Amino acid sequence: MARPNQALIDLDALRHNAGHVRRLAPRSKVMAAVKADAYGHGAVAVSQALQPLVDAFAVASLDEALSLRSAGISQPILLLEGVFTKAELVEAERADLWVTVTAHHQLDWIEAHSPARPLTCWLKVNTGMNRLGVPPAEVEALLARLQACPGVSEDIVLYTHFASADNLDSSATQEQAALFEQLLPGMPRSAANSAAVIAWPDTHHDWVRPGYMLYGNSPMQVPHDNAADLRPVMTLASEVIQLRDVTRGDAVGYGGTWVATAPARIATVAIGYGDGYPRHAPNGTPVLVDGQRARLAGRVSMDMITVDVTGLDGVQVGSRVTLWGPGLPVDEVARSAGTIGYELTTGMPARTPRVLLHAQ
Ligand SMILES: *Cc1c(COP(=O)(O)O)cnc(C)c1O
Repeated sequence: MARPNQALIDLDALRHNAGHVRRLAPRSKVMAAVKADAYGHGAVAVSQALQPLVDAFAVASLDEALSLRSAGISQPILLLEGVFTKAELVEAERADLWVTVTAHHQLDWIEAHSPARPLTCWLKVNTGMNRLGVPPAEVEALLARLQACPGVSEDIVLYTHFASADNLDSSATQEQAALFEQLLPGMPRSAANSAAVIAWPDTHHDWVRPGYMLYGNSPMQVPHDNAADLRPVMTLASEVIQLRDVTRGDAVGYGGTWVATAPARIATVAIGYGDGYPRHAPNGTPVLVDGQRARLAGRVSMDMITVDVTGLDGVQVGSRVTLWGPGLPVDEVARSAGTIGYELTTGMPARTPRVLLHAQ
């Protein structure tokens, strides 16, 4: 017998969110970030659904790109971190991938390789995040070298990444954007991740690169109107497998961290940290049981959680439980567990089956 856990993937919601990106950035091309198995949603299914709606895809590595090519994705695919070895460049060229130049050594490899067919390169500049990218002062010289490489396509895009676009109170985004804009005027460029698509319209430029918002979640630190219409793509669902009444003083779960202060009804749900639910979710974390808000009671186990359903209507063995999805944003659960929704969806293990809804 299978356990009742499923990560439902609503492809209609995904398409809706892609349309929302288009509405927010009408003059930009859209590159969908589908790295890390499309943030845990399943990169092949997500890319197939998005293919008619976006202009390109972005992944973190060659193998992520190759699995999309094997599944028949023919759109451009950018390697966000470029290639990790010179040998990968040959494979990237064979699979017709776009490569990022983030540092000198990658440019050296391209110069030494001389591609047989036009290789599209994006040049990444570090405007303040200090993670990847070449220094602004070197952009012009590196661009000249790249343009001089036989086989490198003329369609070079200059790009950067924001460190704090989720925070409207920070001046970092404006500082990064100002530095970026003064580099090589007239050159095609890309800066906006989801947070910048939502909140920093001046940074949309030629290409936007949303990830998280396509999956229906807002990266913003506080609610933003431009994110209000997003629809969650993933619903993490399980079922009640046992119900019990406890009395005042009874402790629930490992370590007895939740103790009844009055008679209570506890539902045991067949999902735990082995299924992608965060172990650090504390007592009180919201859970939907038959669509009603309930609260986690007791520590998260590997295969189960316990939920206080005292006073809720009609809860029985088999009642449907939503850990996140419509009505309970993954970010609300994540905040309670001291993390971000990105980590929760991305960390969804293979043990929890993905079930596609509205695949056409
Ligand atoms: C992951 C990533 C994105 C997408 O970020 P979201 O916050 O998910 O929208 C965009 N650009 C780069 C370089 C990335 O690594």
